[in-house]
Amino acid sequence: MVKERARILVVGGGYVGMYTALRLQEKLKRELERGDVEITVVTPDPYMTYQPFLPEAAAGSISPRHVVVPLRRVLDRCRIVIGEVTSIDHAKRTAALTTLATEEDGTGAEQLTYDELVLAPGSVSRTLPIPGLAEHGIGFKTVEEAIGLRNHVIEQMDIASSTRDPAVRDAALTFVFVGGGYAGVEALGELEDMARYTARYYHNVRPEDMKWILVEASDRILPEVGEEMGRYTVTELRRRNIDVRLNTRLDSCADRVAVLSDGARFPTRTVVWTAGVKPHPLLAASDLPRNERGRLTCTPELRIEGTTHAWAAGDAAAVPDVTAEGPARETAPNAQHAVRQAKLLGDNIAHSLRGESLETYSHKYVGSVASLGLHKGVAHVYGRKLKGYPAWFMHRVYHLSRVPTFNRKARVLAEWTLSGLFKREIVSLGSLEHPRAEFELAAGGKPSHDPTDDPKGSS
Ligand SMILES: Cc1cc2nc3c(=O)[nH]c(=O)nc-3n(C[C@H](O)[C@H](O)[C@H](O)COP(=O)(O)OP(=O)(O)OC[C@H]3O[C@@H](n4cnc5c(N)ncnc54)[C@H](O)[C@@H]3O)c2cc1C
Repeated sequence: MVKERARILVVGGGYVGMYTALRLQEKLKRELERGDVEITVVTPDPYMTYQPFLPEAAAGSISPRHVVVPLRRVLDRCRIVIGEVTSIDHAKRTAALTTLATEEDGTGAEQLTYDELVLAPGSVSRTLPIPGLAEHGIGFKTVEEAIGLRNHVIEQMDIASSTRDPAVRDAALTFVFVGGGYAGVEALGELEDMARYTARYYHNVRPEDMKWILVEASDRILPEVGEEMGRYTVTELRRRNIDVRLNTRLDSCADRVAVLSDGARFPTRTVVWTAGVKPHPLLAASDLPRNERGRLTCTPELRIEGTTHAWAAGDAAAVPDVTAEGPARETAPNAQHAVRQAKLLGDNIAHSLRGESLETYSHKYVGSVASLGLHKGVAHVYGRKLKGYPAWFMHRVYHLSRVPTFNRKARVLAEWTLSGLFKREIVSLGSLEHPRAEFELAAGGKPSHDPTDDPKGSS
């Protein structure tokens, strides 16, 4: 039984936010029924995104709706508020919140008061002041970006197929990916595979007409699967004619020309930026302690250091890795830690409310699996190294076991099974992004979306 009435505020509805709230719902079931506890989850979108499926969503192997989990259905005993926390004053136990309503009313941010805070806004893309990047770069962290990129790639093939200008065609068929972590490598691997397949339905675009380039600043890619498997991945991608450039940086992408540090220049309409993440800027708008890299400094019990009633986990938190030998290290920002930390976080908040002792977070990283396209993959898990089809199969089995809810597992499995029986989807539904364009034209108005204004160059 909890000592006093507690209002728990969870900021973020991603891995940590959803799994922590889910655990709290289970652990504090009676308290929630009695009204002794109230859980509010604030998040900009009403769904949690299963990010490891984004590359397959971009390839068209999984529909966008099945990559996300509806929070209102899963967290049926929590209050879900769609909005953004813009600052936190933990000394006063208040968070400033903006929602669509506050924006429309012009009333400014609302103040939310809480007793326990779970701060889990995750991370944002780590960008650099590279000329042209803010105007032309495309991120790969959200389902909107993944589907937008799929549509964009197919649109470039349509542009290349219909133009008479060889320079336009060349730029349309050149795809530059910056960053060789799993997000970049999987996104490139899946999209190249999808585009190669799609090319068979074009009379004048062949796979060898396309240039796919991976730019990585260090001397290796996919550090998550270890050195040997990283080297294998480079060889495998090069065998597919993908131009992998190690020890190379993007210097500029102004005027739609990607200029690399090795002197190469590629006119292109596609620069995908997946060069790592940094903690969410909300953390800097709080009075909570952060380390030199901007992550919240946490204890192994997932409490924010030097505070009471404030907790964090996942990409936003610097949690000591108690399994590491040698100098003190923090757990890496990945889903493997985020899920496990969230479950412990839910338990520890329940313990704390009941005056019980807290548990310590301890998990040794077990390795990673990565998909490089249909039937292609690489894996290094529990000390076992796999390549090609077995790795790809393991990737699917692993993620199917991990994607939240039975409902999502069944839908994803059904989609994979059907796509094995029928041909792959090759359409671009880019026009979904501008649903009023046709009506505006028919009604004699000027389309509010002017295709020539599109920074990504999609038509
Ligand atoms: C393409 C891709 C593939 C990946 N593949 C893997 C993989 O194979 N294996 C692996 O281990 N990891 C993988 N990851 C990493 C993994 O997804 C992250 O480590 C994990 O999502 C971190 O969880 P989190 O809860 O800290 O952040 P997130 O899951 O990002 O959740 C943050 C939440 O906070 C919300 N939010 C943001 N700002 C605010 C605000 N101001 N107010 C309220 N809410 C806010 C966001 O909308 C989001 O819902 C991948 C990541 C990407 C991008």
